[in-house]
Amino acid sequence: LRVEEKLYQNRYLVDPGRPHIKVRPHERPSANLLALTHICPAKCYELNDKGQVETTSDGCMECGTCRVLCEASGEIVWNYPRGGFGVLFKFG
Ligand code: SF4
Repeated sequence: LRVEEKLYQNRYLVDPGRPHIKVRPHERPSANLLALTHICPAKCYELNDKGQVETTSDGCMECGTCRVLCEASGEIVWNYPRGGFGVLFKFG
């Protein structure tokens, strides 16, 4: 299987109204925050029409890349989804 085909087998259960990742409000994004719009494998980060970074964490694979890059600086708040929600990986 190609990587794309494997990723397609993942399933997500969205926890409505309780996103597990939040971006701290900002005027202009830092370089790290801006980088998230390119490096998130699930494309959960994008620029809004004001040039600020927003997230929709519904398809998040919980890889932790954004957490490593931006949590310590407080630019994002990252928690695992509640039990039973989030990504469900299908192996084999
Ligand atoms: Fe994207 Fe990974 Fe961060 Fe989820 S944990 S939003 S998949 S970079």
